[in-house]
Amino acid sequence: MMIVAYILITLGLIGAISVWSSIVNEINCYTYTYTPPYTDHETSLMIALFIFAIMAGSGVAMIIFSIMKKRNEDKLNKVLSYSSNGTIKNVCPNCGVNISEGTTICPKCGTQIEKE
Ligand SMILES: [Zn+2]
Repeated sequence: MMIVAYILITLGLIGAISVWSSIVNEINCYTYTYTPPYTDHETSLMIALFIFAIMAGSGVAMIIFSIMKKRNEDKLNKVLSYSSNGTIKNVCPNCGVNISEGTTICPKCGTQIEKE
């Protein structure tokens, strides 16, 4: 998942930069103007730039999404393992239900509770 995102960003950035530099080069050399009406060459280069930008953008979005997901999971785990007075409560490692001290089997899901 993360590897795919990094590959997308890398390929997207490399592609976008190379297409962008060739567009800038063509404008500087007066080969193409990149103003309407567009020629086939100009249109295809702009579409390529757009696709590469979307590739890099979706890679960034994937990374942001996975970081946010990880943070939410961490927060949820914290809430589940702390009681209202801030001390760690005994919770089932499988379903997260609160269990009283000395319990060896979770009353909700039946998971064996290991003593530390
Ligand atoms: Zn359980």
